[in-house]
Order: sequence, then C-alpha cells, then structure tokens
Amino acid sequence: GGGGGVNIQVLLRCRPLSKEELSINTPVVITCNEQRREVSAAQNIANKQIDRTFVFDKVFGPKSKQQDVFNHAVVPLVGEVLDGYNCTIFAYGQTGTGKTYTMEGGGGKTQDGELPSDAGVIPRAVKRIFDILEAQSAEYSMKVSFLELYNEELTDLLAPDESKFSDDKSKKPMALMEDGKGGVFVRGLEEEVVSSASEIYKILERGSGKRKTAETLLNKQSSRSHSIFSITIHIKECTPEGEEMIKCGKLNLVDLAGSENISRSGARDGRAREAGEINKSLLTLGRVINTLVEHSGHIPYR
Ligand code: ADP
Ligand code: MG
Repeated sequence: GGGGGVNIQVLLRCRPLSKEELSINTPVVITCNEQRREVSAAQNIANKQIDRTFVFDKVFGPKSKQQDVFNHAVVPLVGEVLDGYNCTIFAYGQTGTGKTYTMEGGGGKTQDGELPSDAGVIPRAVKRIFDILEAQSAEYSMKVSFLELYNEELTDLLAPDESKFSDDKSKKPMALMEDGKGGVFVRGLEEEVVSSASEIYKILERGSGKRKTAETLLNKQSSRSHSIFSITIHIKECTPEGEEMIKCGKLNLVDLAGSENISRSGARDGRAREAGEINKSLLTLGRVINTLVEHSGHIPYR
C-alpha cells in the first residue's frame, strides 16, 4: 500500500482434476463462473442439497493458464513495485490445490532464456521486472531472498550448504527482529544480488530444491510450512530538478502452509505444537487482513 493505504484483492483459482481423480470418478462439487466471478460449492448435509456461492474479485477456472493468472493478477503489481510500492501475493488453500504450481510452476525447464508454459508467478514476475528495467536502461539493483517458516522457525533456503553431510547445519533457524522503524527483518538472511533473470531461475531452483529435500526428510513438511520469496529493487531516478532519487519497491511472493491444518484440532502423531503454530500463523494472517480491510485502528501484526 502507498501513503498508508492498503489495497487487498481476493482471487480464486480452480485447478483441473488430475488423471487419478478423473479415473476414480471424483464427484465435482465446485463450479466456477468466471464471468460472474462466482464459485459454488455443492454440499449434501443430512440429505439436503445445499449450494453455497462465493464472490471473488476474480475467478480463474480450471482451464486457466499460468500466463492468464500472471497477466491479470501479477502484471499490475509488478508495475506498482517498480513505482516504489511494497506488494505481496499470498497463495492460500488446502494441500494439493495448486499453490506451489501457481507460485513456482509445474517443473518445466527454462530453455534459451524462454520460460516454459507451466512457469509460475515467481519466474514470470522476475522476467517481467528485468525486461522492463532493461528496456528503460534504468540504473538499478536487485536482491532476492527465499525463506521458509516452519513451526515458528525460519530457514534460509538460499543459504550456502555449510556441509554436505549435515542437513541441520544448513537449516539453522534465524531470528526475526524489529528494525525500529515499524518493520521487521530476519537476522542473517542471505540476500543475493542478482543481475539477470537466468541467475534468479537458478537461485529459485536451488531454493525450491532445498524445500523439496526437506519435504522428503521431514515427512511432507512443505504442506505445513510457509515459503516467502522476496524481490527488492532499488531504482535510481532523476527528478525534473536534476536531483538524484532512489526508489525502492518490494515484491513478496508467499506460498502458505496448507489451510487444512487450520481446522485440524488436537495432537496427532505428536504434532501438537506444530499444528498449534500453523493455526496461529494462518489465523493471525486472516485477522491482520480483516483489520486492514475494515480500516480499524490497531493492526495486530505481531
Ligand atoms: P499445493 O502446493 O497447494 O499443495 P501443488 O501446487 O503441489 O499444490 O499442486 C498439486 C498437483 O496438482 C501438482 O501435481 C500440480 O502440478 C498439479 N496442479 C496444480 N494446479 C494445476 C493447474 N492449474 N494445472 C495443472 N496441474 C495443476
Ligand atoms: Mg505446495
């Protein structure tokens, strides 16, 4: 938001059914109406058919392409970031609904600098930022960071591996600190200066690879962890009076933990603390967003 203003939009994306889901004839309970920006959920409660309809700022049906989502939802934000605003995109939903696919992509490989059609929001945003800045022959610098938040512990997904043999060493937790100006930062977080899009694709691969390794090691941790990819851009500009000015914008791309964790109550296989913390973080996020929307005085960021 700029000038204290905050603009929040809620977009919904439905993914297509997978081959497996189709082969077992999974009943379709969700219908999307892109024109009306509506989604209906069919529910059968005590033998009564109850359909509920929800309206969003934008609805992307199951046929929507990565490119469509990017053009509608992200292109305007990239423009704002380059104008010096801070923007954040959260992917929220149950495990398996397409958050990581939407944010990172389907795993297709970049060829000759061209992104694959299944590339997600992050590589597309990066490419667009570079394309615009190069076309303007702007003087700029760009930094990226890639964090994971799991069980109230922060892990730097870009930290260089200190030892090939010790996984917990490269995954040491970091502290979240207040900067005294109303913001927060992560102490010791690796911020990589990048000067080309292909460099970021490699960084992204490294980071999400690390996330995937952790997933297999720690029993599907990724569905219970949040990941935050941040791009910070400084652009040098001259005012009409010939004064030099630095504009700073930031884009945060967040892949949240699976929302099914939010309703899971009690401790199962000794995960009490973990479930509790996921509840806390997703509930707090919801509370913060609601207060921002309602413009009520105190915003409970902490
Ligand atoms: P989440 O991160 O929400 O747990 P994923 O992004 O891993 O879910 O998606 C689950 C599966 O569905 C993956 O195999 C992914 O490739 C596939 N998928 C998700 N969204 C789409 C889509 N829009 N089109 C095609 N496949 C998708
Ligand atoms: Mg995921």
